[in-house]
Amino acid sequence: NADVAMYRAKELGRDNFQFYAPEFNATVHEKFLLQEELRNALARSEFTLFYQPQVDLRSGRVFAVEALIRWKHPTLGLISPMKFIPMAEETGLIVPIGDWVLHEACRQNKAWQDSGLPPMMVCVNVSARQFKDSNLISRVVNALADSGLEAQYLELEVTESLIMQNVEIAVATMNELQSLGVQISIDDFGTGYSSLSALKTFPVVRLKIDKSFINDLATDEDDQAVASAVISLGQKLNLRVIAEGVETDEQIAFLRKNNCDEMQGYHFSKPVSAQDIMTLLNEDRGDDTSPGQRDHHQ
Ligand code: C2E
Ligand code: MG
Ligand code: MG
Ligand code: MG
Repeated sequence: NADVAMYRAKELGRDNFQFYAPEFNATVHEKFLLQEELRNALARSEFTLFYQPQVDLRSGRVFAVEALIRWKHPTLGLISPMKFIPMAEETGLIVPIGDWVLHEACRQNKAWQDSGLPPMMVCVNVSARQFKDSNLISRVVNALADSGLEAQYLELEVTESLIMQNVEIAVATMNELQSLGVQISIDDFGTGYSSLSALKTFPVVRLKIDKSFINDLATDEDDQAVASAVISLGQKLNLRVIAEGVETDEQIAFLRKNNCDEMQGYHFSKPVSAQDIMTLLNEDRGDDTSPGQRDHHQ
């Protein structure tokens, strides 16, 4: 086909040839190369998990960490999940990648427990395609069995929009997960459109207020209205509420005043390596003052 040019993936240092139509722009081309790389990333062990602490607003204690994937590409450098998770979702690669995340997060949490840290939850993000995968339940069962982690220390984060794609099926899947003893939370809450009557039927333990409502919480009255509405909704439905993306004292003051339960954000710590979590939690145990600004790096 004359319209198809041949491109040698020299910069990738491999001997394979890839095809693209010349009318494709650089972005499409870049995306194509990245997809190719993504296919190999698991086998090449290029993924790692970082962990971000979640803090109880009343006691100041870390009770959980959220596992956040990082892709360390040998030549392209650190690639954000915002860039490759949607691509993994489109290609279906999210299923094996997500399975790796599940296993690794459970293994790491068990290792922390075995090293003497007080038990805490590990929260794992589950995207739409993973959630719809017919093997989801057995994947979760296997990750728990292989790691020896008790189900009560695993929480899965699903988004509101994922649930709303098909409420009936989503609730059935969540019920199955719940019967394993796994906890479920709703991520990015406020950005989707769950009806209040549907929300009542979800077997979830908490709502995560999306960080887009937290960013300007100190000054934006609309964001204040949304945040305080979500907090009182949580209270009425007997769900805990966590604010994500908390960076400033002003945001914390607002959340405390409105009886928010928990927070997660750079104010306490950026996502850090498994090793740095150990250091951070040991420090946390060492002194009884409430946590302040931490100086760990992403
Ligand atoms: P998310 O689940 O809503 O995770 C929270 C994101 O907010 C993380 O971005 C985190 O680093 C960032 N964040 C936390 N606190 C602050 C803060 O105070 N300020 C600011 N500006 N940002 C903050 P990250 O790690 O880049 O992940 C982005 C998204 O990628 C996640 O959003 C999640 O949807 C997805 N993701 C990450 N890891 C995984 C994974 O293992 N599996 C799946 N399916 N999705 C993942
Ligand atoms: Mg999340
Ligand atoms: Mg979130
Ligand atoms: Mg978010």
